Amino acid sequence: MKILAIESSCDEFSLSIIDNGKILTNVISSQIDQHKEFGGVVPELAARLHLQNMYWVIKQAIAESQINTDEIDYIVYTAKPGLIGSLIVGKVVAETIALYLDKPIIGLDHIEGHIFGAAIDHEFIYPVLAMVVSGGHTQIEIVHSPSQFEIVGATNDDAIGECYDKVARVLGLDYPGGPIIDKLAQQGNSQTYQLPVPKDDISYDFSYSGLKTAAINLIHNLNQKSEPIILVDFAASFQLAAVTAIEHKLERAIQNYNPKTLTAAGGVSANSQIQKVILELGQKYNINNTFVPKSEYCTDNAAMMAKLAYEKFK
Ligand code: ATP
Ligand code: MG
Ligand code: FE
Repeated sequence: MKILAIESSCDEFSLSIIDNGKILTNVISSQIDQHKEFGGVVPELAARLHLQNMYWVIKQAIAESQINTDEIDYIVYTAKPGLIGSLIVGKVVAETIALYLDKPIIGLDHIEGHIFGAAIDHEFIYPVLAMVVSGGHTQIEIVHSPSQFEIVGATNDDAIGECYDKVARVLGLDYPGGPIIDKLAQQGNSQTYQLPVPKDDISYDFSYSGLKTAAINLIHNLNQKSEPIILVDFAASFQLAAVTAIEHKLERAIQNYNPKTLTAAGGVSANSQIQKVILELGQKYNINNTFVPKSEYCTDNAAMMAKLAYEKFK
C-alpha cells in the first residue's frame, strides 16, 4: 500500500510517500529563516511561502521516492488543526494531485499525526500513553487504536512550546527558542532562579501562562536592577519548572491507565529533559515499549501523517 501525504499546517510544507509503512521520502521545507526576524510565525507569510516551496518539495519528493505516481493508492493531507491559510494550500495541493491521479483522498488530524510520528521507527502496543508537547498543544492522550484517541488532560491556556518560544524571545534568543533554551539548560544550574511549577495539582490538565508570566517578570525585574542574567542558569531553572509539571502528571497517568506503550510526540518531544523523563518513567513502571520519536519526526513533517493513514487503513 503506497500513501502520499502532505503536511502544511504551520510553517513547514512537507510531502512524504510511504510503502507499507516504510518511508520512501519525507521532504520538508522550513521557513524558520523568514519568520525569525518577526520572532514567530506570521500566518499570512507562512501561506505565501508554502506557495513558493510546494513546487520543489513535490518534485524532489517524487524523484526521491523512485516510484511511478500511478502506483500511489491513497492521498492524505492535514485537515486540522493549524493556520487556516497554511491548511488551505495543503488541501488544494492534495486535492489537485488526487484528481490528477484519480485516487481516493482523506483529510487527517495533525495531532494524531504527531503521535504516529513516534510509531515510524517503533511498534505501538495498545493502549499507548502519548505525552503530546508541541507549539500549540500540551496534552496527555490514551490511544486505544489508530482510530480511537482519548484526551485525558490538556492545557487550559498556553502550550509548552509557545511558553518556551515567548520566554526565549524576551531573553533575546532566536526563533524558535525551544531548542536554544534546551541546549543552554544542559550547561546551567537549575537551582539559581526560582520559577513556579505549572499547575502542579491532581488534575491531568496543564497551564503554562503562569510560568510564562513569572519568567518574563523575573527577566524584567533583573533587568531593572541591572543584574546580569546568567543565561545557562535561567534556561536550566525554566526547563526544570516546565518539565517537572509534565513529569508529575505523566507519572499519575501511568499509574491510572497502565499503558503498554509510553511515548512522546510533537516538536517539544525533541527536548532532552522530556526525553529523559519519558525513558526514566518507562523504566520505573516496567513499560518495556517506551521510546521517543526520532528528531526529524518530532517537529512537523508529512511522514507522520502518512504513517497515521497507513495504520488507520491497515
Ligand atoms: P501544533 O503541532 O500544536 O499545531 P506546531 O506544529 O507549531 O504546533 P511543532 O512543530 O510540533 O509545533 O513544534 C514546534 C515547537 O517545538 C516550537 O515551539 C519549538 O520551540 C519546540 N521545540 C523544538 N525542539 C525543542 C527542544 N529541544 N526543546 C524545547 N522545545 C523545542
Ligand atoms: Mg514549524
Ligand atoms: Fe505540529
